[in-house]
Amino acid sequence: MSFQALGLDAHILKAIQEYGYTEPTPIQAAAIPPIIAGHDLIGIAQTGTGKTAAFTLPILTRLAAGPKTPGTKVLILAPTRELVVQIEENVLAYAKHLPLSIAKVFGGVGERPQIEALRRGCDIVIATPGRLIDLMDQRYGNFSGLQHLVLDEADRMLDMGFLPGIKRIIKALPRKRQTLMFSATLSKEIEALTHEFQHHPKTVQ
Ligand code: AMP
Repeated sequence: MSFQALGLDAHILKAIQEYGYTEPTPIQAAAIPPIIAGHDLIGIAQTGTGKTAAFTLPILTRLAAGPKTPGTKVLILAPTRELVVQIEENVLAYAKHLPLSIAKVFGGVGERPQIEALRRGCDIVIATPGRLIDLMDQRYGNFSGLQHLVLDEADRMLDMGFLPGIKRIIKALPRKRQTLMFSATLSKEIEALTHEFQHHPKTVQ
């Protein structure tokens, strides 16, 4: 299996080649085609399996193919600041040859730069739920045209008590969107989240 065979955009293929990836990991081979096709998806995968690229590469492919519109098209929620930073590094590398703007939002630092980034408008927002709620409550961010939502390490976000925050964020998003959820485990709580927020999701392990 090659990255070329998965249907990724040429700019993204170039970027991952430059980044040194030669072939997709199993979760990437399984997840990329259904995500490009527009399906909702549950990915049962731990850190280290290549799950970040598994959701980022197909989403970037969809963005590259779509019209340029204002506002945020992609929201990635993750449990910690460290993970947000790590995801951003990956997204920046994969989107190197695409004209996309990316903002990160997390607590423990000043709000100002994050507010400025949201004001300028960004295609992709990578955030922890707590700080994002604070900023959305102050009416920052334009999510009215959101197309893709990713809940990364969903089980950890639930363990950390982010469920009410996640629900509030999702209520503010368009109902017609693609929702991708990644979790190391498939618990009853994760299944409930899936049931509430996803539409006939495919499961990949
Ligand atoms: P993740 O599971 O997303 O945290 O990724 C774990 C590590 O694997 C990261 O350092 C990625 O850069 C790397 N990685 C992801 N996909 C590939 C691939 N197809 N080939 C080589 N390394 C990869």
